[in-house]
Amino acid sequence: MTPSASATQINSTRLLSPVRSKDRFLVFGAPAIEEAEILEVVSTMRSGWLGTGPKVARFEQDFATYKNVQNAIAVNSCTAALHLSLMAAGIQPGDEVITTPLTFCATVNAIIHAGGTPVLVDVDPITKNIDPNEIAKRITPRTRAIVPMHMAGHPCDMDAIMQIAADYQLKVIEDCAHAIETEYKGQKAGTLGDFGCFSFYVTKNIVTGEGGMVLARSQQDVSRLKILALHGMSKDAWKRFGDEGYRHYQVVECGFKYNMMDIQASIGIHQLRRIEPYWKKREEVWNVYNEAFADLPITLPADPEPNTRHGYHLYTILIDAEKTGMSRDQFLDAMTAHNIGVGVHYLSVPEHPYYQQTFGWQPEDYPHAMNIGRQTVSLPLSARLTDEDVHDVIAAVRQILA
Ligand SMILES: *Cc1c(COP(=O)(O)O)cnc(C)c1O
Repeated sequence: MTPSASATQINSTRLLSPVRSKDRFLVFGAPAIEEAEILEVVSTMRSGWLGTGPKVARFEQDFATYKNVQNAIAVNSCTAALHLSLMAAGIQPGDEVITTPLTFCATVNAIIHAGGTPVLVDVDPITKNIDPNEIAKRITPRTRAIVPMHMAGHPCDMDAIMQIAADYQLKVIEDCAHAIETEYKGQKAGTLGDFGCFSFYVTKNIVTGEGGMVLARSQQDVSRLKILALHGMSKDAWKRFGDEGYRHYQVVECGFKYNMMDIQASIGIHQLRRIEPYWKKREEVWNVYNEAFADLPITLPADPEPNTRHGYHLYTILIDAEKTGMSRDQFLDAMTAHNIGVGVHYLSVPEHPYYQQTFGWQPEDYPHAMNIGRQTVSLPLSARLTDEDVHDVIAAVRQILA
């Protein structure tokens, strides 16, 4: 069957019987929001203190406790967390920073914003994470840091990465946007490297609307991050309008406007309390999908590895046109026609014109990331999904592919 013949067939099938009706379109990654965070936001709105304040301080403390660390610094995105970490790591113009081609553009953009030169290293085709065996080959006298990203919540091979970092005296900044719950050999993601960066964007495992968090291993880095996140103002400058009387602040360096608001923290405090049941729910959906798709001609996500905890952020399948008779993009269209939202994580970074023009990157130079990026589809995997939603996703996938 040629891809186009198959697509025509799907078109006629779906017109007769989409699995869901249009008015029940299943939004990809829609978060579970409950009454507690709605009430907390309202109470913050009524309190008159909307900006960075006591709720942010509490969310930071709760997150630090969750991660078994002393300090966590709340910011307005993971992109900001990555940028600040790279600044605090001392990245200077001309410094090279190694990262993965199979990530969201923000990982690479943050390196560029910090003045660094991004250097890509291809991924392992099974785990979809940066391949440590390839990292050493790309190290030069200018290399200063590695930014591993725990794809879909599957932890990177951190022993190997930390060994390379020790051998070459490199900083390690973990992009944990997918990996809040991820653990590697008993240690929580974001506490393995020098810095850990988290996202609470609307589609992530827990959300604050927009928002992020950054961890640092050294106390010196923690202090620097706090200052950099709020204009370069000296410590605790947010308290300047509080009830302890006006406090003068000093600007000690040229910082950024990256602070989180109490409105955002109001959501995060309650989301964090439900992190375990939400994780458990996604694990269940993951296992149901695995069973339901076992006989289909597609590649299912890699199983969690022993002695690790998977974050179950994304459930990704690979659509190989040679095996399924349809292209990945035809599959995306077919799912949309069934009124089920899908995602692509990610077209490899070198597919985008900006990076081609600026760095001369070509997708073919990172073949595993390229192949995954051209075949991958993310199915809905959110704590909000009902049994019926999951059933509909399975029915649509099977109807399209079986
Ligand atoms: C979502 C995401 C980011 C950016 O997070 P924001 O909070 O939206 O800035 C960075 N890296 C990866 C891998 C992501 O998925």
